[in-house]
Amino acid sequence: MREVFTNHTKALYPWMKNLSSRVYQYAFRNLGEAFKRFFKGLGKYPRFKKKGRSDSFTIDNCGKPIELNGWSHKLPFIGIVKTYEPIEATTKKITISRQAGDWYLSCSYEWNPTTTPKKTDVVGVDLGVKTLATLSDGKVFESVKSYRRFETKLSRMQYRNRNKEIGSANWRAAQLKIARLHIKVANIRKDALHKLTTYLAKNHGTVSIEDLNVSGMLRNHKLAKSIADQGFYEFRRQLGYKCQWYGSELVVVDRFFPSSKTCSHCGHVQDMPLNVRTYDCPECGLSIDRDLNASINLRDAVGLTVNACG
Ligand SMILES: [Zn+2]
Repeated sequence: MREVFTNHTKALYPWMKNLSSRVYQYAFRNLGEAFKRFFKGLGKYPRFKKKGRSDSFTIDNCGKPIELNGWSHKLPFIGIVKTYEPIEATTKKITISRQAGDWYLSCSYEWNPTTTPKKTDVVGVDLGVKTLATLSDGKVFESVKSYRRFETKLSRMQYRNRNKEIGSANWRAAQLKIARLHIKVANIRKDALHKLTTYLAKNHGTVSIEDLNVSGMLRNHKLAKSIADQGFYEFRRQLGYKCQWYGSELVVVDRFFPSSKTCSHCGHVQDMPLNVRTYDCPECGLSIDRDLNASINLRDAVGLTVNACG
């Protein structure tokens, strides 16, 4: 395969000569991995790359480590590159990718996380539609609703773009603007989620969350947009690795546990339609915010049922 590439394909595309051979080496290595996964039944048949579509490449320093320090970096084959954020890392290889006209640098490096002192033993977290998360100690993380905030702007941009000739310079410029807005929305969402999961994992010995049936909920269209907006899957993924980093335990409560329907004071169970925001218990007279009630139940469920992970 490599011979065919070097003797045949490379000759057809003069721009390929300008690239470092290390770039091709990683491209072939990735392709090999992709085929391995495909034959094991783990992945789909590899698809062709195309210039201009999810562009990325990987380089190394021929076995020597690459030192990244500060804002300005000397990269092998490329030369000096400046970044918007300071980086401090020693790594073996770097992947450079392009997203909506911006260039990103990513690498893996060793980092030893340390267990942090915990303020609270157990915290229950209820992920909401109205709010991002409600904690059993009463703390509330407001939802950023990043997508809805920019929804009108996005659809206006898409509408204005409707008559432009596909592939023309005007069309490309407009598409780039749209892509940038999409990334901005995603970044606002990411930031809020990272702040929440870091706070939870750093300050609590055990974090108890509900195992949400996200795909089932996404089929409910009224809820779908809010849930996609809040990124429940990503929440759980981040919490998983951050709990490992900071030495806390993640407990995932069975999805059939009636966290919203149960009174957190006396255990009475009643139906709670989504539009009812307050839990009013007819048994003990407790009147409490719906999400707070659910998060207290999740906290108290730790040690009762549950399959622990992380
Ligand atoms: Zn009650």
